[in-house]
Amino acid sequence: MDQRNTGDPAHPHRVLVVEDEPALADTLAYSLTRQGYEITVTMDGAKALEIARRDQPDLVVLDVMLPSLDGFEVCRILRQEMSMPILMLTARTDEVDKIVGLEVGADDYLTKPFSMRELVARVKALLRRVRLVREEMAGAEKGEPSAPLAGEQLVFDDLVIDLGRREMSYQRCILHLKPKEFDLLVFLARNRGMVLSRDLILERVWGWDYDGGSRTVDVHVRWLREKIEADSSAPTRIVTVRGIGYRFEG
Ligand code: CA
Repeated sequence: MDQRNTGDPAHPHRVLVVEDEPALADTLAYSLTRQGYEITVTMDGAKALEIARRDQPDLVVLDVMLPSLDGFEVCRILRQEMSMPILMLTARTDEVDKIVGLEVGADDYLTKPFSMRELVARVKALLRRVRLVREEMAGAEKGEPSAPLAGEQLVFDDLVIDLGRREMSYQRCILHLKPKEFDLLVFLARNRGMVLSRDLILERVWGWDYDGGSRTVDVHVRWLREKIEADSSAPTRIVTVRGIGYRFEG
């Protein structure tokens, strides 16, 4: 079986594997290569940062216990600089809260031992989200802000976003949003589950040339929360990821 998952065999997704157990690193590299991904392996945390900065991989598989710089530190630093998904590997279930919680902000995790089938499934799911963002970017660059199809909607229980009409309804009431509020909501919703930094949000929703600060994002998030959260002081839909930005829970 030699299936590529990028939809574009000329540009396979690049995955950085950071794992210091040689046998596991080999197995990871073998399994992911077989899926058509381009793999770089390193066993060292500091080295991982160097490689990530140089290569800008599409996804990082990151072990927690590493020599020189542990996976928590690596994840925290990567998050400040880049937005690719990070899948963490841990041997201890008591680390899970830290991994997916506010402190580190990885996108997903697996507890050792795990099957390669499970790992591949998680990697595919994370890359699928990235592809959606990329397609939007490509559209935006061509001046086609991902023209929605008539009737295209994003539905999250009682929250319905109608892309064609640029309308949102919450608990069956149609609410009117300012244009940027609507764009922000769509961007968050389309990337549900992903940690999105303020800078990334600014760039995608307001554009490269916007010279207001990232406070703009916070203010718009606050307005949205007042409209779509049951309790805007304890938001469950647009969640703050401390020190980074926001995540939409679908
Ligand atoms: Ca390790």
